Amino acid sequence: MTNALVLDGKATALQIRKEIEQDTTAWKQGGGPTPTLAAVLVGDDPASQVYVRNKERACVSVGLASQLFRKPHATTTEELLDLLNTLNCDAEIHGILVQLPLPAHIDTQAVLDAVHPLKDVDAFAPENVGLLVQGRPRFLPCTPHGVLQILARYQLPVAGKHVVVVGRSDIVGKPLANMLLQKDVGLGPDFANATVTICHSRTANMAEIVRSADVVVAAVGQPELITTEMVSPGAIVIDVGINRVDSRLVGDVDYPGLSAIARAITPVPGGIGPLTIAMLLSNTLKACRLQNDAVKALATRD
Ligand code: NDP
Repeated sequence: MTNALVLDGKATALQIRKEIEQDTTAWKQGGGPTPTLAAVLVGDDPASQVYVRNKERACVSVGLASQLFRKPHATTTEELLDLLNTLNCDAEIHGILVQLPLPAHIDTQAVLDAVHPLKDVDAFAPENVGLLVQGRPRFLPCTPHGVLQILARYQLPVAGKHVVVVGRSDIVGKPLANMLLQKDVGLGPDFANATVTICHSRTANMAEIVRSADVVVAAVGQPELITTEMVSPGAIVIDVGINRVDSRLVGDVDYPGLSAIARAITPVPGGIGPLTIAMLLSNTLKACRLQNDAVKALATRD
């Protein structure tokens, strides 16, 4: 029996995409250029190909443009850096997405660092991470932003709540924890101002810590790591994990068990995944606006 409110990421993402489509139409009608995302895909990893295709289709569906830059597996770090330099200088490209993981012989950090901060729609650049940590974000990182959006759209405030984030990656856990503890990242003070604990693979007494949470976010990559015994009845459970088990997609939490005791829960698939893509679109539009403003500011200075 399901007691928990199921937080529908697919429907929420569709709503957000509609809003982005309206904003994009208004932007273009006002004379703005078509916001364009460059997706860089290296090698033939099937999952990466699907992710990039979905992102490209999503762009087009809301009136953005996308260009795919496909490179063979043998591409060197230097060749990728050259490509990024070209894309950074191309005034018709507003956002750059490097699909991860890159092949092992490539210096991923060097490649990510080479994306211009104003085109950094994934919000990985040190400058953008620094701005977020200081509470004045330029771009919100896509997956953590998706987590906050679904909480906001379902009116589940986190201010003053104990939020336990399991996972400390630079893509999900760390930036999400940072956003949660800010005063306001643009969604209003109710969707920030949390008391945040981060757990990772070396955390002692994780079950005890998770049990003390009002909101649990699992971003680990291990099926059913978070069990019903670890979660307090009435807690909100956000499952970021995506794991393939016997050709089925599952998250990091015991979904059937937790659906019976949680106040609200996100499913996998159909939870945070669709929101991640929606927030990438939002960042691409924002990147285009920021670059347009920067060019105008330069023109008035001359
Ligand atoms: P990473 O592998 O980069 O990080 C995993 C984190 O989990 C690490 O911090 C690791 O700790 C921690 N961890 C591993 N084992 C345990 C454990 N037993 N107990 C507690 N913590 C543990 O993964 P990502 O953050 O990139 O992704 C996490 C999951 O989210 C994956 O399933 C990924 O596919 C999914 N994902 C989903 C997205 C979406 O759109 N829905 C987007 C991005 C990711 P330590 O640091 O100590 O190693």
